[in-house]
Amino acid sequence: MTIMPNSVEARDMAYQMHPMVNLRKYEKSGGLVIESGDGIYVTDNTGKRYIEGLAGLWSVALGFGEKRLAEVAKAQMEKLPYYHSFSYKTHGPSIDLAEMLVKIAPVPMSKVHFTSSGSEANDLACKMVWYRSNALGKKDKKKIIGRIKGYHGVTIAAGSITGLPRNHESFDLPLDRMVHTSCPSYVHFGLEGESEADFTKRMLKDLEDLILKEGAETIAAFWGEPVMGAGGVLMPSDGYWAGVQAILKKYDILLVADEVICGFGRTGKMFACETLGIEPDVLVVSKQISSSYMPLSAIIMNDHFYQPIADESDRIGVFGHGFTASGHPVATAVGLENLKIIQERDLVGNAARLEEKFLGGLAELAKHPLAHSSRGIGLLGALEIKPWADANAGDAAAAIAAACQDEGLIIRNIGEAICFCPPLIITAEQIDDMFGAVARALDTVQ
Ligand code: PLP
Repeated sequence: MTIMPNSVEARDMAYQMHPMVNLRKYEKSGGLVIESGDGIYVTDNTGKRYIEGLAGLWSVALGFGEKRLAEVAKAQMEKLPYYHSFSYKTHGPSIDLAEMLVKIAPVPMSKVHFTSSGSEANDLACKMVWYRSNALGKKDKKKIIGRIKGYHGVTIAAGSITGLPRNHESFDLPLDRMVHTSCPSYVHFGLEGESEADFTKRMLKDLEDLILKEGAETIAAFWGEPVMGAGGVLMPSDGYWAGVQAILKKYDILLVADEVICGFGRTGKMFACETLGIEPDVLVVSKQISSSYMPLSAIIMNDHFYQPIADESDRIGVFGHGFTASGHPVATAVGLENLKIIQERDLVGNAARLEEKFLGGLAELAKHPLAHSSRGIGLLGALEIKPWADANAGDAAAAIAAACQDEGLIIRNIGEAICFCPPLIITAEQIDDMFGAVARALDTVQ
């Protein structure tokens, strides 16, 4: 593409430093300028329309252009555009949303603390874990177990729990307090001839060995996405979560479930903890909580987690943490309306009903000579790509993602896979359109 001086692309390249790009490459190539969105589609500044196969960044559950969210935001802007939650002040939208989250949580929960991004929520939940250990007089119980390929964000603690080298390298992460155990994706890490049951046993042994090596008395919490998202849609092996929970109970280690991608219907139930039988002490949510129309995230915690923290704040005199935007009234009002719409339109049911079609379509694509296999749950899936003669599987996946974009579909290549996470409003016909574009891309790319 020729980039004209003073074009929107040229000004972007001149002034903006983008996240998650090769900055030198961006200086030369620029990015795709998206101008508008409607339903599952977005349109670029040349008028070309795309299916958004990743719902933006795994987030736009309601699709683009949902008027009710715009109306609620406008009404809240006019009534009370901003207020904070510090110093014994509060406001209606944050109260309403907190109540709703406690009521729909997959396990009994008692309190909600609002933040604005998934990273902040994980970072703060981590600080709360440390605060709680101090409250209990367990000064050495501070280590956190994350997992290889897990993603929990990019702030210092959340980025340290993340188990992806590219989020660590040259940032001087991870912090010493974070240790990592194996990734439970059988497809990727199963050994030649190893059954899935034996793989799960090995994963659980790795976890228990790590706990014993570090010393159980030094480990405060285990962090995990029910299904790993940004690591490449990696499914936990059968029996993994039940085994993990038994080990954590045995060694008195908290379980933090990061449902930033999985929460609010993505796996066919309101929370993936329900789908996979996980009972966390702390649930971290973001993205689909507001369909990302406003930045919003939340830490939902049980009483076992909350009570020692409350005691410690009483001892010190204050819980010394919070953001200017914690529980922002416009964000929480939009979040509440978004969740009401998810419920009214039964979008969780839509994900459950379409799962078979979605996974069936992916399995069909996996028969293509360039594809290796497919996987997924609900409306979250991935197509694993094979290496080609002159390209490794990662480069091949990148080429296929680019070809999909030419075919009018935006999806994301992660490692050797191309990943799908369409808006929850998608229909059966639109799934056919989405996979039709992938099939054309696979046929044209080599
Ligand atoms: N946790 C998970 C599971 C995520 O997938 C993400 C982002 O993709 C985050 C946390 C970080 O969220 P944010 O980008 O809003 O900081």
